[in-house]
Amino acid sequence: MKTQSQVLVKKFGGTSVGSIERIEAVADRVLADMKAGQKPIVVASAMSGETNRLVRLANDVDPFYRGPAYDMLVASGEQVSIALLAIALEKRGAKAVPLLAYQLGIQTDAIFSKARITAVNSEKLLGYVHRGEIPIVAGFQGVTEGDQITTLGRGGSDTTAVALAAAVQSEACEIYTDVPAVYSADPRLVPKAREIPVLSFEEMMEMASLGSKVLHFRSVELAAKYRVKIHLRSTFETRDGTWVVPEGDKMETPVVSSITHDAATVVLKLFPVPFGPGFLAELFEALAEKGVVVDIITQSHNEDGQRVAFSVRDEDLNSAVTVVKQMVGNKTSIVQMEKMAKLSAVGVGMANHPGVAARFFRVLEKQKVPIHLVTTSDIKISAVIDQTNLGEAAKALHAEFGLDRE
Ligand code: ADP
Ligand code: ASP
Ligand code: MG
Repeated sequence: MKTQSQVLVKKFGGTSVGSIERIEAVADRVLADMKAGQKPIVVASAMSGETNRLVRLANDVDPFYRGPAYDMLVASGEQVSIALLAIALEKRGAKAVPLLAYQLGIQTDAIFSKARITAVNSEKLLGYVHRGEIPIVAGFQGVTEGDQITTLGRGGSDTTAVALAAAVQSEACEIYTDVPAVYSADPRLVPKAREIPVLSFEEMMEMASLGSKVLHFRSVELAAKYRVKIHLRSTFETRDGTWVVPEGDKMETPVVSSITHDAATVVLKLFPVPFGPGFLAELFEALAEKGVVVDIITQSHNEDGQRVAFSVRDEDLNSAVTVVKQMVGNKTSIVQMEKMAKLSAVGVGMANHPGVAARFFRVLEKQKVPIHLVTTSDIKISAVIDQTNLGEAAKALHAEFGLDRE
C-alpha cells in the first residue's frame, strides 16, 4: 500500500531513540525518506526508560499527587529526545525544528495524565513542511487553554502522531517501533506469535483497549475516526510491517485473532459493603471523579453482606484506595491484589462461533491457573490472573486457538 500524499507523519518510539547511536540512525532514515520524495513530520517519544524514571521521581515525593506539576515532569523526557534528534538532523545539513506541544499548538482538555487532544495547529505544522523544514514534534504532551502542560497517558506518543496525521489529512501514519509488526500475541511473552500483516481498526482497537501496548488505544480510535491508516513497522528494518485499515480493506476474520495481555492490572476486593446498588453508584461515581478508570467489576452477596471486586490500572491504585477508604468504615476489609494481569482472547469472528469461552476456561483449568475476575463481550473474553501464570497461560491459549507459528 502506498500513500498518495507525500506528507507523512513518522513516529519513533522510546527504544528507537533510546541512545545517541539510535537517534543518529533515525536521522539517517528520515533523510533517506526525504531524498526519496517524502515530506516528513517526525514525532518522538522520550528515550526508553526515561518516562519511567520521571514517574518514579514524582512517586518518591508524593505517590498520591496527580496534577499539572506531575504532567510537566513526565512530559520532559520528550523535550530531550526531540532536541537531540533535531541536532542530529542539523548535523546532516537538514533544517529541523524541534517543537513542544505549546509551540506547535497541540491543544488538549485539562484532564491531567489522561488528556485528550482537542485541536492541532495544522497550518503552522504544514508551514514548516512547505518551507522544506522537518518539524520534530514532542509526543505524549499537549497544552491546555490555560497554558498548562498535559500528558496523554502512557504510550500516548502514538496518539500525537495520528492526531497530526489527521490534522494534515495524511492518508497514513507510520509508527516505528522495536518489533517489526503487530503480532498475534506479545512476542516477548509468546515466542510462537505470528505477524499480522493487515488488521481492521476494530480488531486493533479491541487489542489496544485490552492492554496490548504496541499501539495506544486513543491512537487507533482517532485513526478509525479520521480514516488514517496506521503502518506499524520496525525502526531497524525497511520492510513493511502491519497495516491497520478499515474493515472493508481486510479479508480474513479468524475466530480468535490474538491473545492480548495487560500486566498493569490490580484488583481491589471489598467486603462487606452496604447492600444495594446505591453504594455501588456512589463508589464508582467517586472513582470516576478522581479520574480512575475502572475495568472489570463483579458483585455478589450473601447473608453476611455485599461483596464487590474490581480492577484498575496499577498507576491508579493509590487514587482508588484513597477513594475507597473515604467511603467505607473500618468493618470493611479492603484487599489489594497487585501483580495481576488481564489475559484476553480477541477476535471479531468469535461473535458467530459458540464454544470459545469453554475452550478458554478449559485451557486455564488444565494449566491450573486461578481466575480472579472474568468479563466477556461479542468479540473478546478476558480473565484476570496472577502475573506469575501469565506466560504459560498465554502460550497455551495461543496454541489452543491455532495461532502458533509453524
Ligand atoms: P514504543 O516505545 O516504540 O512505543 P512500546 O514498548 O510502547 O514501543 O510498544 C512495543 C512493544 O509492544 C513491543 O516491544 C512488544 O513487546 C509489545 N507488544 C505487546 N503486544 C504486542 C503485539 N500483539 N504485537 C507486537 N508487539 C506487542
Ligand atoms: N514517553 C511516554 C511513555 O513512556 C509516551 C510514549 O512512549 O508513547 O509513556
Ligand atoms: Mg508505545
